[in-house]
Amino acid sequence: MIGGTTHHVLRFSNVVWNGGDGALDLRGVSSFVSKTTKVYQRIYDTSGAYMSRNVGEFVFHPEHDHFHFEGFSNFELWTKAG
Ligand SMILES: [Zn+2]
Repeated sequence: MIGGTTHHVLRFSNVVWNGGDGALDLRGVSSFVSKTTKVYQRIYDTSGAYMSRNVGEFVFHPEHDHFHFEGFSNFELWTKAG
């Protein structure tokens, strides 16, 4: 009960791992003009060369006092099938 009202709360945990052959290498590039930090993933080949691709944004969360990687994971709650 919270404030006299029943609340159903779902708590869960998760694990994130790198299932690829190489390191997960994410680099932030900040822009003072747009006040954003874009995230680039470096994808290496066997020679050590890499390509970069934009994979999202780091967003500063003032209440947490750290950056979040927006859209890194996605969770869905489904109803149970009959
Ligand atoms: Zn946070």
